Amino acid sequence: MTLLNEYLRERFGCKVYKIAINAGLTCPNRDGKLGFSGCIFCSAGGSGEFAGDASGSITDQIEDGKKLVSSKIKEGKFIAYFQAYTNTYAPVSTLRKVFSEAVNNEDIVALSIATRPDCLPDDVLDLLEELNRIKPVWVELGLQTIHKKTADYIRRGYDLDVYDNAVSELKKRGIEVITHVILGLPGEDMNMMKETVKYVCDHGTDGIKLQLLHVLKGTDLEKDYREGKFEVLTEDEYINILKECVKVIPETTVIHRLTGDGDKKILVAPLWSGDKKHMINRIRKEVLT
Ligand code: SF4
Repeated sequence: MTLLNEYLRERFGCKVYKIAINAGLTCPNRDGKLGFSGCIFCSAGGSGEFAGDASGSITDQIEDGKKLVSSKIKEGKFIAYFQAYTNTYAPVSTLRKVFSEAVNNEDIVALSIATRPDCLPDDVLDLLEELNRIKPVWVELGLQTIHKKTADYIRRGYDLDVYDNAVSELKKRGIEVITHVILGLPGEDMNMMKETVKYVCDHGTDGIKLQLLHVLKGTDLEKDYREGKFEVLTEDEYINILKECVKVIPETTVIHRLTGDGDKKILVAPLWSGDKKHMINRIRKEVLT
């Protein structure tokens, strides 16, 4: 099993922290191109609750992020994590300005760019390839599931072959891919979740983020949850699913996350997931042994 922290230390020779950045972009699932309501689970903040303040420059956000961890660390480097919304959904001239500011910052060792696989046109891929020659660029794709029925329910808005194509285009250009998978989506059982994890590992992803489904305030998922249309996972169920999923992740795929990282202020369910320390301890003892 290859865990992110060890991998980063080995690759960059020091402790590396992620600074979450909000580049002030939007998403085709929210601005009307594909839909106005977003993915069913997505918060108003575009799944970027911990990202910086979009009104500040990228440099300001990096400085703010460094200050946040400065009490804990004496030295270390940083990854600029473009987290909120769809970070390749803008004209390439805008993206060039935004990403260049980060890539040229001396404390930044890599860029990690969260986006949708249907938002990677050729000119954007070319830009990413160019940036990747300066510092490593990772692209994080929010796949969540390989199963069509679930993908339709969550209003993901693209088919699996779009993901496959994006992975292949990124890999052709030497860009590393991290795939986001949600565990506990309505209608999915253990086997379906394992199938998704196995599929992405077999289809070229370099890293994987496993994230517990969070029901967040103000989302359409919250409505379905309150109407009793599905149940969220219990803590024990989640641990068991994780145990099974990590079995199908090869050494060559870096595990970036095994827990959720939801904002407690807007968390509706499952409430047990709000105790992150407890979860990390359980995962360490029961999943990573
Ligand atoms: S693609 Fe991302 S930002 Fe857009 S609605 Fe879905 S989860 Fe939210």
